[in-house]
Parts: sequence; structure tokens; C-alpha cells
Amino acid sequence: DLYNTVQDLKGNIRVYCRIRPCLNGESSNVIDFIGEDGSLVMSDPLKTQKDGRKAFHFNRVFGPTASQADIFEEIQPLIRSVMDGYNVCIFAYGQTGSGKTYTMSGPSAGSFRDVGINYLALNYLFQISSQRKETIKYEIYIQMVEIYNEQVRDLLSEEAVIKYPFPYEIRSCNENGLNLPDATLQPVKSSTDVLSLMKLGEVNRAVSSTALNNRSSRSHSVLTVHVHCKDKSGSTTRNCLHLVDLAGSERVDKSQVTGERLKETQYINKSLACLGDVITALAQKNSYIPFRNSKLTLLLQDSLGGHAKTLMFAHVSPEEVSFGETVSTLKFAQRAS
Ligand code: ADP
Ligand code: MG
Repeated sequence: DLYNTVQDLKGNIRVYCRIRPCLNGESSNVIDFIGEDGSLVMSDPLKTQKDGRKAFHFNRVFGPTASQADIFEEIQPLIRSVMDGYNVCIFAYGQTGSGKTYTMSGPSAGSFRDVGINYLALNYLFQISSQRKETIKYEIYIQMVEIYNEQVRDLLSEEAVIKYPFPYEIRSCNENGLNLPDATLQPVKSSTDVLSLMKLGEVNRAVSSTALNNRSSRSHSVLTVHVHCKDKSGSTTRNCLHLVDLAGSERVDKSQVTGERLKETQYINKSLACLGDVITALAQKNSYIPFRNSKLTLLLQDSLGGHAKTLMFAHVSPEEVSFGETVSTLKFAQRAS
């Protein structure tokens, strides 16, 4: 299939672009052309860039009319491969407001309306598990953490008071295959379980956001699905699916920010740059992959490279004023594709 071809050429990495629709009151004239083959031509109506027309190429481009179902249909085989022995990592990359959370979670946490990849993926895993129940026994667990300023915080903790910074450290995998053995691990049996845990995660994330002024766009959130599988012979395998809603990639003018905000900005720049370096090194099949340069890449290490499959959604906003950010997002993403 196409993915196998791409995987041979590119070391298991695919990159899709998604352009969100205009929201109320917006209008836009930035998209010139979207090709079936993954080509994308954008132009800069405000002429803020020297060269106004830019062409890109990805594995696929989803335009503003693409639905959550269109996206999920495309990634379904990738999700299924987690049940067949692969580790998988899906990232949402892009500036704040470009639709990352919409793609991963949907427009509103805890609601079924237009649910995103996270929920649809788990739902699909339950479906496969039930189809195969005569021959294979699956157990599914989830963890949900946030990485903020290079510190990892448990989002599924029931504690009313959130300790910040949370002292969870990332270790190399323990005997259970967990690299975050101290973070809450919740068994899930149904979509309802998943939805309520996601809601808890969102609430925990929001609590810190008010205290620290909309932190959610400045932290990475990682939903990890652990799949334990036991076949009739009794042999067991463990695989995981990481679903990552990254911090906003917008460049912040460092001369305009100080204190906490400057520290945040530096941490985000560093960790996104590390992610870019890791993905580029994987795509080039380098022998040295710099996983240890950030908490994010360290955490995802066993799902990047090697036998694992990686997918990045590069999100862009159609807003004309965002053209500069759009180009830098697409350039970042194109490094890997
Ligand atoms: P980000 O997480 O990148 O900051 P959001 O996912 O919060 O961006 O999206 C910003 C706004 O645009 C939200 O109101 C969201 O519901 C809306 N939005 C994003 N993508 C889409 C889409 N594909 N269709 C409809 N609305 C969208
Ligand atoms: Mg978001």
C-alpha cells in the first residue's frame, strides 16, 4: 500500500497538512491550489512576504471542507496497526488557533459532537478488540500528561490540588513497558470511560491554565494508549499509541516578553526544535537520533523511529495575517516529508 511505499522511502514518517475553515467573520484568499497528490500552493494576499507564492508537498492535504470523519478514514489503518504490533505516534503541530485541538479532541471536551482523533481512535480499538475476542485478549489503558517547561504533569490524577511543578520523571521503560510509571494508568473498557477521562484531563489542564494564563497553548499534551495483547498461545505483546497536541508553534518576539513568559517561550522553541531535529534525523535515516535533547522526544522515543510509525498533522489557519506563521509551519513539516 501507499504507506508501505512511503515507509520504505521515509523511515515510517508521514506528514499531512490540514487547513481549517474560516471562522465567523473571517474571510481569506490564501489557498491557490490543493492537489490530490498532496501538493499545496498558497499565496500571500497582504504581500507581507517578499515571495508571495509558495508551493509545498505533503503526503496529503486536507482543505477547509474536510470533516473529522474524512481525517479518521485516512488514518484508520495506522490506528489498526497498534493492534497488530506497532507503536504509533500522531502529532498535531501548528500555531495557536490553527485547529490542533479540534483535530485531536474536537471542538469541545467531553462532548460527542465532532469528536476528534483521540476518541475515534479509542473507539476503533475497542471495536477491533471485540471483533477478535475469540482469538486475542486485549487490555487497553490510557495515560494523559502535559509537558510544560520541560516538566511532566499527570492530567488523570484525581487529587483536587494540583501540585505544580509535578515531579514526574521520564525513565527508560520499566518491566511493564511504561516510561512514566508514576503517572496514573487507567484501564478503559468503553468509549464512555474514555470520554469521562478525557474530560477529567481537560479540566485538570484548564485549572492550571487560569492560574498561569492560558497555559494550554504553551504546553504539549500527550494521550498515551497502551495496548496489551495476549494470544491463544499465551504470548503477550505491548504496544502504544501516542496522541500529541503540541504547544503553539508561533514565534514569540523574545524582546517583547520577560520572566515566566520568556522562559516558556524558550522551552517551547527548544522542544519543538528538538522534535524537528528528531523527525529530520529519522527521515534521513541517520544513525544518531537526538532523542535525549527534550522531555517530549524522550517520552515518545519508543514510538518514533525503528519499527514505529509516525504521523504529523501540520495545521494552518486560513487567516491572511497568519501567512508568515503558515509558511514557517509548512516549512517545518516539509523537513520531514
Ligand atoms: P489550536 O488548538 O491549534 O489552538 P483550536 O483547535 O482551538 O486551535 O481551533 C481554533 C478554533 O477554530 C476553535 O474554535 C475550533 O473549534 C475552530 N476549528 C478548528 N479547526 C476547525 C475545523 N476543521 N472545522 C471547524 N472549526 C474548526
Ligand atoms: Mg489547542
